[in-house]
Amino acid sequence: ENKLQLVHSHIRAFPDFPKEGILFRDICPILKDPAALTAVTDLFEEHVRQNHKQVELIVGLDARGFLFGPLLAQRLGVGFVLIRKKGKLPGATASVAYDLEYGKAEAEVQEDSVAPRQKVLLIDDLLATGGTMYAAIQLMKKQQADILGCMVVIELKELNGVDKLKPHSVFSLVQY
Ligand code: 5GP
Repeated sequence: ENKLQLVHSHIRAFPDFPKEGILFRDICPILKDPAALTAVTDLFEEHVRQNHKQVELIVGLDARGFLFGPLLAQRLGVGFVLIRKKGKLPGATASVAYDLEYGKAEAEVQEDSVAPRQKVLLIDDLLATGGTMYAAIQLMKKQQADILGCMVVIELKELNGVDKLKPHSVFSLVQY
């Protein structure tokens, strides 16, 4: 409970960012405070040890999934893999296109980064509409990974991202 309170107290809200009408949840204060960052990692680690002992890889989403994912992977003694926006990864890649509010984007993963039937957990800072996480799930399916679930620091409940990701589970530390 104390750990959750610590995390909660290190999330700020900025109205009208990056554009009017959006209330942006800023996780930078978590990173600035070692106790809060440790609390986030502890809470994710506890969840994985209780629910997904078999995990073999943590897969992080561009870009803020990269801040929390490697810390968790190290705790668990497993590897970390990056899903990146198009054009950033060298070598052979698998990709999926997905819709943004305006236009389209593409997410990529290195083809040799995830083997068929490897047990993966996906991680990002925040789940909003679920579009980004959905694309990551499609990429992992392309790689024939065994998807154990998704994890985020923050879930924005009114956007129903969790429904979009079913039947995959979403674990979040803080909900708004
Ligand atoms: P979705 O695809 O679920 O609509 O949006 C989630 C993605 O956009 C995540 O990768 C997340 O980093 C970013 N994002 C959207 N809104 C916010 C926000 O309010 N705060 C933060 N930190 N990230 C956001």
